[in-house]
Amino acid sequence: MLKEEPFKPENFYILAVDDISTNLKLLRVILEPVGYSLTFAKGGYQAIERVKASKPDLILLDLMMPDMNGLEVCKHLKSDPEYADIPIIFITASNEQEHIINAFESGAVDYINKPFKKAELLARIRNHLLLKHTIDELKYTQKELQNALVKVQKIANTDPLTGVLNRRSLFNFGHQEFNRVSRYGPPFSILLMDLDHFKKVNDNYGHQVGDIALCTVVKSIKNTIRNVDFLGRYGGEEFMALLPETHGDQALTLAERIRQMVASNIIETDQGNLRLSISIGVTTYSIKDRSLDDMISRADKGVYQAKQQGRNKCCLV
Ligand code: GH3
Ligand code: MG
Ligand code: MG
Repeated sequence: MLKEEPFKPENFYILAVDDISTNLKLLRVILEPVGYSLTFAKGGYQAIERVKASKPDLILLDLMMPDMNGLEVCKHLKSDPEYADIPIIFITASNEQEHIINAFESGAVDYINKPFKKAELLARIRNHLLLKHTIDELKYTQKELQNALVKVQKIANTDPLTGVLNRRSLFNFGHQEFNRVSRYGPPFSILLMDLDHFKKVNDNYGHQVGDIALCTVVKSIKNTIRNVDFLGRYGGEEFMALLPETHGDQALTLAERIRQMVASNIIETDQGNLRLSISIGVTTYSIKDRSLDDMISRADKGVYQAKQQGRNKCCLV
């Protein structure tokens, strides 16, 4: 809901443009007592300078001026995104249909014939300022909503502890990639990674240190894989990497690099330094796979084999 605020002329800044000083004086006499802030220009070029110097909320623009006529000024401003949404009301002595149509075609929101009635001038100015204000607020609200949506989407897809994809998002990307590979063909590989004896880390150092260790490992894995790969939390101390356009042997090489990196990293905590190791199941898409789950259960077998072989191993299945 937009806030309903009383209309306050003193909050608005109007530029009046006319080559005849008495016309500008008349506008001043009408608009100043109402409370509007005013600035003036005596010709087209000066008008453009004033707009650039002090971006007004509305422009009252004389149609006929010797140096650069109102239509040209209007077209010039409308072609510049910075000033295009400033409402322009033409004030014209001409009643000719063609001039009026030209004014609207060049981007004006309204026009008033000279000599004008004070009440009508004020009513039109007020209406267009209110309309502009409402549009500005809507645009602002729309931007805020878009920003909020981006934040919400990020939260909904992210594991809060480690900052990588959560399980739901990981599976969404996994299914997408599986569909792509089953239509267009291999390669596509996955890594299932399970930290070794992680329960002992919690038991020996406490859960908080366990959390720090998890984050440290995940960060280094993230730095090892490519930008196009997806890394997500599969479960507690289990992580999965989805590797598009990657053959089994390449995936195994990457897994081996991750394994060595985890094993060689020293994690510094206030309880002392600790070392971890990781067991990795590696698998690659085969034409016989019916779903992502087929690949995951193979990768799971790989993890099982790695654990059986003494942990700190990578097994391609
Ligand atoms: P293995 O080598 O067979 O995988 O042994 P493990 O101890 O790693 O495996 P297990 O499945 O027995 O235990 C997993 C441990 O990971 C237990 C659980 O408390 C811990 N864990 C899971 N999620 C978190 C977490 O978010 N933070 C912390 N600190 N620990 C976690
Ligand atoms: Mg586990
Ligand atoms: Mg484990």
